[in-house]
Amino acid sequence: MKFDGRWFLNFASYSYLGLIGHDYIDQRALDAVERHGTGAHGVRLLAGTLHLHRELELALARFLGAEDAIVYSSGYMANVATVGALVGPGDVIIGDVYNHASILDGYRLSGADVITYAHNDLADLERALKKAGDAGRLVVTDAVFSMDGDVADLPGIVELCERYDAPLMVDEAHSLGVLGDTGRGITEHFGLDPDRVDVKMGTLSKTVPSAGGYVAGSRDLIFALKNNARGWMFSAAATPAQIAAAKAAIEVIEAAPERVRELRARTTRYRERLRALGFDTLTGETPVVPVICGSAEQAGAMARLCQLDGLFVQPIVYPAVPRTLPRLRTIVNLDHSEADLDTAVDVLEKAGRACGLLP
Ligand SMILES: *Cc1c(COP(=O)(O)O)cnc(C)c1O
Repeated sequence: MKFDGRWFLNFASYSYLGLIGHDYIDQRALDAVERHGTGAHGVRLLAGTLHLHRELELALARFLGAEDAIVYSSGYMANVATVGALVGPGDVIIGDVYNHASILDGYRLSGADVITYAHNDLADLERALKKAGDAGRLVVTDAVFSMDGDVADLPGIVELCERYDAPLMVDEAHSLGVLGDTGRGITEHFGLDPDRVDVKMGTLSKTVPSAGGYVAGSRDLIFALKNNARGWMFSAAATPAQIAAAKAAIEVIEAAPERVRELRARTTRYRERLRALGFDTLTGETPVVPVICGSAEQAGAMARLCQLDGLFVQPIVYPAVPRTLPRLRTIVNLDHSEADLDTAVDVLEKAGRACGLLP
């Protein structure tokens, strides 16, 4: 990518499968603009629904193994409006302490009580479920945590939710097209029946190179959301180009699952090389590869040195992550060739030695 007149290797993008600029996806978006123009005519319930919207919802539902789906105008909106619609005052939301900001904003909108549990900690989740008693409950977790790159312990979470009869919502923003043998996400990753996650949320702005968010689930759930989720009912439909691009991207992912496997292979080699040099990359197994630094200043210095050498990476510090774990966050995507990954490792090694992170 080009920035300030210079070329950089972009290790900060969420376009995991490198689909931004994919010919087929671009062409479907252009066709949609030619046929329908750029606007959406209003909200979905009135004049905003084109056949394209329903086709995308049905394509997502089929891809994810659900009965139906609802598409929102952003991933942020999908979380806020869905949580806000499913629980209310007197109910209890139980969520991982690292859940995404859009989920937290949904808590506030809902007016429900909130119990957070320690990150990915099943014992603490069980404590929360016991404490919630028989109030209406909703358990919510990210599938992949975007700062650490680790994966939620879904088999354990599902088992607890079933034992305590609590519905489960999972945010697949960083796992759609990334986890599982064919990119279907966290249930495929763990070999679980997708039905065991009641509310399957995701975004169309990361691996899927568009904008928008979705929830997939039972017909009853989608009907309820289309009649209660205010961020869907009272905000304009996503535009034809966004929707056509998203649907084309799902087709591409489905037709070429080897992309998902190739991303995993490249990520694994990259992470192993960083670990072998002595970097702490935490315990993740996804394309989000953090490089833990000794201080916020060191994370800033690492980012500056890398950028001087043409590697675009960002430092992440408190309050986005705990004060004790400042880091540089690097993200692998399929636009990176093997040579690009080698270059990134060399640049990181040089920066690490220059600022004392490596001996
Ligand atoms: C990015 C993200 C969202 C929001 O999606 P947008 O499409 O950017 O609005 C929601 N949840 C998680 C975990 C995310 O990373």
